[in-house]
Amino acid sequence: MPKKIAAGNWKMNGTRAAVSEAMAIGQADAGDCVVILCPPATLLTVLSDARLALGGQYCHAETSGAHTGDISAPMLADAGATYCITGHSERRADHGETDADVRAQTQAAWNAGLIAILCIGETLEQREAGETLAVLEGQLNGSLPDGATADNTIIAYEPVWAIGTGKVASAAQVAEVHDALRAQVGPRMSLLYGGSVKAGNAAELFALTNVDGALVGGASLKAADFVPIIEALA
Ligand code: PGA
Repeated sequence: MPKKIAAGNWKMNGTRAAVSEAMAIGQADAGDCVVILCPPATLLTVLSDARLALGGQYCHAETSGAHTGDISAPMLADAGATYCITGHSERRADHGETDADVRAQTQAAWNAGLIAILCIGETLEQREAGETLAVLEGQLNGSLPDGATADNTIIAYEPVWAIGTGKVASAAQVAEVHDALRAQVGPRMSLLYGGSVKAGNAAELFALTNVDGALVGGASLKAADFVPIIEALA
């Protein structure tokens, strides 16, 4: 069985004033579900006492060097992360990261002992052109290195048009994609949905056979919003 996972992505949000939220998230009754928080890298060491698994939001493909402003996978691991998001659509869009870049970053995450949370997702234009499944298959083939297993990789399906927009994909849309992904990655790898997940829509998404959890952005910032999502999964 794939592991059930509730992952929060704080994006470029959160200072030490938000530590109490992370601590409260760590108090959620998570049952057999793994709760992961991906705060800004500045908070990783600060959150070492939270009862949470921690993740980075990105890692460079190299371990060190002349790359001002970047962060490497061994640095994330050293700061207490055990997971790292790779290929988030905001990185692909804002920083021009290609499938090849994401593949190298995912490999770098593994090399540092991190579990990759690899994100894929279609744009609205691609969905309307009927290209969704082909786009996702291409992204997965292009950005998932050889050697991916259920132990080193989690896949997050995040339709670009549903991220931060309040437009959640319908259960039928999510089921179609997740069933196709399951056929591609095998029975054990966790498949997360992401894109405007909230307490009010989480239970319906988690009821789908091949949805093993969620990658949550906006609704992971406050314990009052994230804890009910965790409890819907647990
Ligand atoms: P959202 O973001 O929940 O705010 O839509 C999800 C994500 O980008 O991981």
